[in-house]
Amino acid sequence: LPAILLMNIYKSYGLGENKVDALKNINLEIAKGEFLALCGPSGSGKSTLLNILSGIDKPSAGTAIFLDKALNDLNENQLSVVRSRHLGFIFQFFNLIPVLSAFDNVYYPLILNGNYNKKTAKQQALHYLESVGIGALGERKPGQLSGGQQQRVAIARALAHEPQVVVADEPTGNLDLATGEAILDLLMKINEETKTTFIVSTHSTQLKDRARRVIEIKDGEIIYDSVQ
Ligand code: ADP
Ligand code: ADP
Repeated sequence: LPAILLMNIYKSYGLGENKVDALKNINLEIAKGEFLALCGPSGSGKSTLLNILSGIDKPSAGTAIFLDKALNDLNENQLSVVRSRHLGFIFQFFNLIPVLSAFDNVYYPLILNGNYNKKTAKQQALHYLESVGIGALGERKPGQLSGGQQQRVAIARALAHEPQVVVADEPTGNLDLATGEAILDLLMKINEETKTTFIVSTHSTQLKDRARRVIEIKDGEIIYDSVQ
């Protein structure tokens, strides 16, 4: 069974003259363990697609299946349980909580999602901060870290509950080229080591030559898929 299956997905925003067709008849199957690069210019529908496949947004039409669960059939509570157990999300602007230390940014979500006791949450947070190269910087607040270091903390947060699927929306969009390359290397290494499914969007060409599977989206439609 695939990690994700999208069938005839449409998404529109607004009404009448203001209607925007952000996604048009998207069909996509993503295997477990895959590293998928989702490429396309700004406004092409990448964020909308990521939000729908991860159950953050509802499609206007079509079926989205995430780890064997038909997302259409789940209510907000059930969706939030699925996300907190099985999904890690990485953002362009990191979305760390500025008043919390790097450690606490990884630790508290584990406690708040209710699946970890304090001891295990601490172990998980320490382990994943170490694995992204931030082990020595756990006491620092986001403002005392570089952009690349902040994104590493966000990656540790996305991984610490050991989700089956990690979605990254323009994770290098706010980083310089070299720092972005290092972040992509890290994501690909984690994919190889853990067999976690990764779906990573980018408007740059950075991932095109490197990801195992590349999809290009334009004006809400998939115009290229390297496996087809
Ligand atoms: P990308 O991530 O590739 O930049 P988006 O998925 O953010 O593209 O946007 C796709 C299209 O949908 C764009 O035309 C954008 O302006 C529009 N859009 C996205 N989110 C909304 C929203 N909440 N309300 C109205 N239009 C939106
Ligand atoms: P991205 O390029 O990653 O989509 P954006 O800056 O375009 O980032 O969008 C940031 C947020 O604003 C997203 O949640 C998106 O859904 C929303 N958004 C994008 N375009 C519009 C729009 N035209 N109207 C309302 N919300 C929008």
